Order: sequence, then C-alpha cells, then structure tokens
Amino acid sequence: MTVPAHNGAVATCYQCVTIRKSAVDGIGVCGICNSLACAQHGGLPRNRPAFHCSRCIPGLLTQSAGGSPPSGPGPGGGAGTPGSGPPTPGGGTGGAAVPAFQSSLDFELQAPDLAQASADQRGAVELDTVRESVRRLFGLYRDERPRREDFLGRIAYEVREPVQDEVGRQMRQRPNAYAYWEERGGLDGATWTEVDAIVERYRRWLIEGLLPWMVSIHPVLDENVWVGARDEPGGMVDVLLLADAIGLQAYSWSLDPQRSPFRRLDVVAGADPGLVVLAELYAQSIPAYP
Ligand SMILES: [Zn+2]
Ligand SMILES: [Zn+2]
Repeated sequence: MTVPAHNGAVATCYQCVTIRKSAVDGIGVCGICNSLACAQHGGLPRNRPAFHCSRCIPGLLTQSAGGSPPSGPGPGGGAGTPGSGPPTPGGGTGGAAVPAFQSSLDFELQAPDLAQASADQRGAVELDTVRESVRRLFGLYRDERPRREDFLGRIAYEVREPVQDEVGRQMRQRPNAYAYWEERGGLDGATWTEVDAIVERYRRWLIEGLLPWMVSIHPVLDENVWVGARDEPGGMVDVLLLADAIGLQAYSWSLDPQRSPFRRLDVVAGADPGLVVLAELYAQSIPAYP
C-alpha cells in the first residue's frame, strides 16, 4: 500500500497513485478534470483538442454510443428529429459535437494502451444485460415515482453498510468527530444522516440530471429506438460502446461491474452520476442478481 519513492519525479498518474497505489509517470492532463494520467489511464481522442483521463472517457463513450447528431442545419439545433419524441429541453445540451468514437474498435485504435489495459473489464460486460439496463433507465425516466423510489430505496440499502463502516472509522480516528456524532445520535444516527444525504443527491439528479444526460446520448427518448424492440437486435444506440463505458468505468475505479457501485463510497462521491446510475442498473439487471 506504500507509494514507492519516485526519484524526484512528481508528475505521477493520479489514478495509478490513488487506485493502484503505484507511481507511474503521467503523460497528459485531462481536458475535463485536469488530473494527470498515464497511457493506461488516458488517451487523446482525435476529435477533441485535449487529452482525457479514463474516468472522463466513459462520458465520451456514452455520448458516442448515441451516434452522430441528427443531420440538419448545424449542430445544437433544438428543432428535433422529424417524427421523434419530445423536443430536446432548452435546445439540447449545448449541441452534440461529432462523436469522439465511431465505434468500439475506433475507441480501441484511438486509445490503444488504455483499451488494452481495460480489455478484461470491457469484455466482461454482457450486451443483453446492457440492453436491459437501458430499458430500466427508461423506467426511471418515465417514472414514475414508484420506480424512482424503488431505485432510491435500493441504493440506500447498498450504501448503508459502507457508510456505517466509514462513520465508525471516523469516530474512532478523530475525537472531535466522535463527540460531534455522539450528540447526533451516535453511529446509527450519523449513518442515516449520511445515507440520506447520498440518496437525496441522487433523487435530485434523477429529477434534474437524468433527462439532459439521456438526451446527451440520444435525443429520441424511446427505448425501442435506443436498443431495438424486445427480442430484436438493432437500435440507434451502439450497445457495445455503452458496454465499453460501463467496463471502462469499472476499470478506472477498480470496480466489479457485477456489484452495486453504491458499495464504493469513493465512486459515489467522485464519479459522474449518470455512469453510477447506469452501472447500478447494470448490476441490478444481471440475471443471477436477485
Ligand atoms: Zn495510471
Ligand atoms: Zn478526467
């Protein structure tokens, strides 16, 4: 768990240090989050004028999965596609640019070191389960209060134990935190307060963030358009690229995609909520997972 001394060099990859506990030289600074990343934790997409780290590339992958923006007079038009679903709210999300990746193979060719390093995790993501996750995503979108409350209840259940562990650790480590929490109901009270804060944050995201996030992937909000009708292949959304996004996120955070990401508080605190929700739906959609 110790980070080796690095002969005076300080330009080490953020993810290697924080996740792998090893010091590897960074080769680029992420254009989105500004972290320094090595070749196995980042890449330089040709259509983006900046290097991106492997925690930010999953967002580019989900956006790319929706394909090219509808052809028409310029990008970012809010006119919508003829015969499409609801218009994009507020004129879309700033106008979808050319997708960073044309396909899964194109991603692998553009970021070869990262692609190789993450091949196991990306390869383990089942495409049928991704399709099912997308259908459940639409369930949340339409909500459908009962579905959202169901989902939030589920994540409250998943985060409870890791939160309790962390609160207990903080109370043991810090006398001032112990006194603070003792006045507020002790371990149990503190745990519920923290769990509620997380659930509330995701409730707000489902209300305010889910729709623009989905539109950023594909503007026609219909699951049959996205992934094809049930029992039929096809659909506008590239399921392999969505699988790449889920797998790459798992690789970046050292997650097991079969398990709920809400078991990992660093992920809950630090990752893009859209991808956390998608990863949660994926874990819930695994057939063996009750
Ligand atoms: Zn690295
Ligand atoms: Zn980044």
